[in-house]
Amino acid sequence: MNFFSTKKKLGILGGGQLGKMILFTTRKWDIQTHVMDPNKNAPARLACDNFKVGDLMNYESVFNFGSEMDVLTIEIENVNIKALFALEKKGVKIFPQPSILKIIQNKSKQKNFYSINKIPTANFRTFSDLETLKNSIAKGNLSYPFVWKSSMMGYDGFGVSIVKTNKDLETLNNCECITEDLVPIKSELSVIIARRTNGEVKVYPVVEMKFNSTSNQVEYVICPAQISKKIKSKAEDLARVVSEKLQHIGILAVEMFLTETDEVIINEVAPRPHNSGHITIESSYTSQFEQHIRSILDLPLGSTEIKIPAVMVNLVGKEGFYGSVAYKNIDQILVIDGVNPHIYGKKQTRPNRKMGHVTIVNKNLNEALKTAEQVKSIIEVISK
Ligand code: ADP
Repeated sequence: MNFFSTKKKLGILGGGQLGKMILFTTRKWDIQTHVMDPNKNAPARLACDNFKVGDLMNYESVFNFGSEMDVLTIEIENVNIKALFALEKKGVKIFPQPSILKIIQNKSKQKNFYSINKIPTANFRTFSDLETLKNSIAKGNLSYPFVWKSSMMGYDGFGVSIVKTNKDLETLNNCECITEDLVPIKSELSVIIARRTNGEVKVYPVVEMKFNSTSNQVEYVICPAQISKKIKSKAEDLARVVSEKLQHIGILAVEMFLTETDEVIINEVAPRPHNSGHITIESSYTSQFEQHIRSILDLPLGSTEIKIPAVMVNLVGKEGFYGSVAYKNIDQILVIDGVNPHIYGKKQTRPNRKMGHVTIVNKNLNEALKTAEQVKSIIEVISK
């Protein structure tokens, strides 16, 4: 589909940092891009051709926005699916396809999909509400510890809790949820895979994600993952299987757990550019954002080979700081070779809010890791 310097319109639902980074490519290629987000100050408002303020969960606003587009994509899963199905019927090309978003939006549907397709994942149960879950514990059908996840609207670990006691149970929201066995995790891995309509598939090298144990957010992404060839191919094969079963068009980020016994199982997938793929901007021949555009516009996929090893550090709002953001000591990290800060352009900071990231490249991965720790100890995201 030729969108280069034409009147064809690409729409993006969501104008956060992922949307903003997709726009690096649409600017580079002169692709007319329209973005909708509920926040008038959303990061992607600046680099698109047209920015619209609108509720992503509202049928009318999504339908009206999408009606004007030739191709529509998302940078967040929580959008009005009914509107997407209606738009698809009308002939708008939507990638990822609404049928896939419907599965992925809801964690119990997503887990069922893995079960049906015999894709290894943590054992799970689904509950319509908290009362039913509590009854199950009372009857001895469910025991501690377990991982609780709200079925809908989870993001960055906000809808996830490790439940070990009756007291923990009282902190949970009353909503449809799943419980999972607590997996003994050795490491968390991610593989990004791209697929276009003609069936062409490209897989990025496995990366390793290190999580912050308090916020449950990714602290470091390491590329390539420091794992054996055998585990690497297990992870890549698993990503290929999920991608094949889903038949998604666009990018799919496959988050996995490497267990203490060296099994590789799926945690969850995201059918869009992903935090674990930001590193590709500097470390790969083709960034995940460009690859997403290539796949949804049915263009030849780019090389996923690593140009240089890298480590990514998320820049999140420091505990105790709220309000107008300031990036303390950013000048001090800019003097270090191989340090590439990305500032998303969110005006307000709050504890643990993702405000930016820094990618550190180095021919020697251990050196990149050392620099990443240094960067993390120098820069602070605070309020003015
Ligand atoms: P979100 O959708 O909010 O990103 P995830 O389902 O990815 O939430 O869970 C967030 C984190 O919680 C994971 O990266 C992992 O560290 C931990 N976690 C999730 N599920 C399990 C599990 N079954 N066993 C152990 N830890 C888990």
